[in-house]
Amino acid sequence: MKKITIALDGPSGSGKSTIAKALSQKLNILYLDTGAMYRATAIKSLKLGIDTFDEDGVKTFIEDIDLKIKYVDGAQRTFLDGEDVSDKIREPHVSMAASNISSLKCVRLKMVDMQRKIASSMSCVLDGRDIGSFVLPNADYKFYITASVEVRTNRRFAELKQKGHDVDFEQLYKEIEQRDYNDKNRDFAPLKQADDAVLIDTSNMTIEEVINKVVSYIK
Ligand code: C5P
Repeated sequence: MKKITIALDGPSGSGKSTIAKALSQKLNILYLDTGAMYRATAIKSLKLGIDTFDEDGVKTFIEDIDLKIKYVDGAQRTFLDGEDVSDKIREPHVSMAASNISSLKCVRLKMVDMQRKIASSMSCVLDGRDIGSFVLPNADYKFYITASVEVRTNRRFAELKQKGHDVDFEQLYKEIEQRDYNDKNRDFAPLKQADDAVLIDTSNMTIEEVINKVVSYIK
């Protein structure tokens, strides 16, 4: 099979990671969850006691950050300073910190460089915010996956509840709105639909329908 790259972009909770996982299995290609890298960077900053908006502070560690993506039984594991932080990065307080730190240009340049290196070596599907518009402008397939804030909050709420987190719906709704705002309004590589990306609104679709739709373009 010829090497292919697939870019899946869109706001938080639109279903990108579920679709990306399904695609990677169906097509037997790598899945790179780029959000995990911003989340791990946020943990590093929090660990060092550096404010996630403090660009000068973040610059002191970002170039030498010990962040590694490994694959265990086909699933991505994220390592920070040698520690597997794959579960820790999903904790609710990390989401907002990741959103904040991802607005810093020095962070994005570092992450994008790592993402391009991974994507240049093998077929893969990447999910994120700026994959089709900035990281891989020449990706073979590009999709912009979205859904209403209401639907996305419902999905995230159910997911967090299932993991045993005590979450408040209203607060989660506001946080998702804030993260959308941050993603769309940052100066450098904001969230946007690439001109050549296929738009899919998943608000009224089942995950199976979305996957079938995406696969129909790739075939
Ligand atoms: O996708 P996920 O919610 O795990 O991403 C965490 C945060 O990282 C997002 O809120 C977003 O601000 C940021 N992000 C980004 N660019 C990407 C992937 C994620 O700015 N390519």
